[in-house]
Amino acid sequence: MGRVLIIGAGGVGSVVVHKCLQVEEVFSDVWLASRTLSRCEKIKEQAGRPIEIAQVDADNTREVVDLINRAQPDLVINTALPYQDLSIMDACLETKVDYLDTANYEPPDEAKFCYKWQWDYQDRFRDRGIMALLGSGFDPGVTNIFCAYGQKHYFDTIEYIDILDANTGDHGHPFATNFNPEINIREVTAKGKYYETGAWVETDPLSIHQSFDFPEIGPRKAYLMYHEELESLAKNIPGVKRIRFWMTFSDNYLNHLEVLKNVGLTRIDPVEYEGLQIIPLKFLKALLPDPASLGPKTKGKTCIGCVIEGIKDGKRKKIYTYNVCDHEECYREVGSQAISYTTGVPAMIGAMLMLTRVWQGRGVFNVEEFDPDPFMAKLNIHGLPWHVKEY
Ligand code: NDP
Repeated sequence: MGRVLIIGAGGVGSVVVHKCLQVEEVFSDVWLASRTLSRCEKIKEQAGRPIEIAQVDADNTREVVDLINRAQPDLVINTALPYQDLSIMDACLETKVDYLDTANYEPPDEAKFCYKWQWDYQDRFRDRGIMALLGSGFDPGVTNIFCAYGQKHYFDTIEYIDILDANTGDHGHPFATNFNPEINIREVTAKGKYYETGAWVETDPLSIHQSFDFPEIGPRKAYLMYHEELESLAKNIPGVKRIRFWMTFSDNYLNHLEVLKNVGLTRIDPVEYEGLQIIPLKFLKALLPDPASLGPKTKGKTCIGCVIEGIKDGKRKKIYTYNVCDHEECYREVGSQAISYTTGVPAMIGAMLMLTRVWQGRGVFNVEEFDPDPFMAKLNIHGLPWHVKEY
């Protein structure tokens, strides 16, 4: 029925390939392209059905345009890094092909985590008659859908949202990140920020925490962080008073991170070393385990969800919507750990809803702008079952 071009053969890209191949009636043809062809070859060998592969430097719009002209996809799924979002969107505009991603654009030299650059494509995408779906991973992605679902079925007005992300995954390494180390460390070392009564409140990195009793995991310390879905939810959930994002980290992870930060290895500005310009965080990434290699070793669970409070029929109400995912089960199914899995499955579902025209539009959209029901139904079918607990 539809042909997709997936760009980025890392942990998430690999899951998207496997999950698309499981739904042949929607994804009849799958192309995978990335900077390093051997990574595509490896995924191709493990895939259950034949796929086409190609090498591309997605920083270069011309190369992406040529690739799209060769592959003739109905949709481009961007699972490369946030740095490539705009060059791939430009190529989609030129070739008039729909676009989907899981993370917002980031300029390489500054950690911003903001949608402005991509929202600025709204008129151009609308005028070309094509659609961009932004942030169709888990967080952002499913967490936004959980809020839209709460809004549709449980509340007249949502007032408070707390997004809670726990991961007890143990990979046996002294220090490793579960997705791209550069993006992960940029996110964690950035200042915290949350939305309250129309304004953004900034906090020092990881300076605020609370304990939360996660289903199937137990009590864990969760730290307040900024996360990109806060920006779109503040815009798209009318009347919301406060939105915060919390993530758990082990003491071991935080201790390592503090030392790396103190010695300057998390810096993203260039440093001259023996005549070469080196970005310390990029160098650190080269030393750390590749997230895609953690699959066979990771044990434990993720639990990600939203505590939502608001008013229904004049009464105060609070719900918790969440998913629990097991690292080892994900590995058995698609050969990846749960962080890549929980991102790749929603990317596939977003793509499926676009290709089948269940979700359609002209312009640039965040996932919470569409009807959440079909997405929620597909999560149960494709490996990320969810629960709603009413307090
Ligand atoms: P990886 O680092 O494992 O994979 C990224 C892939 O993109 C690599 O194969 C890399 O190629 C490729 N790539 C990088 N630069 C280019 C380029 N210029 N041209 C072509 N390919 C390129 O990262 P993940 O799979 O862990 O993450 C992928 C995306 O998913 C990231 O944007 C991340 O932020 C997002 N994400 C979203 C989440 C969510 O819930 N919304 C959660 C987790 C991740 P090479 O092999 O040559 O380095």
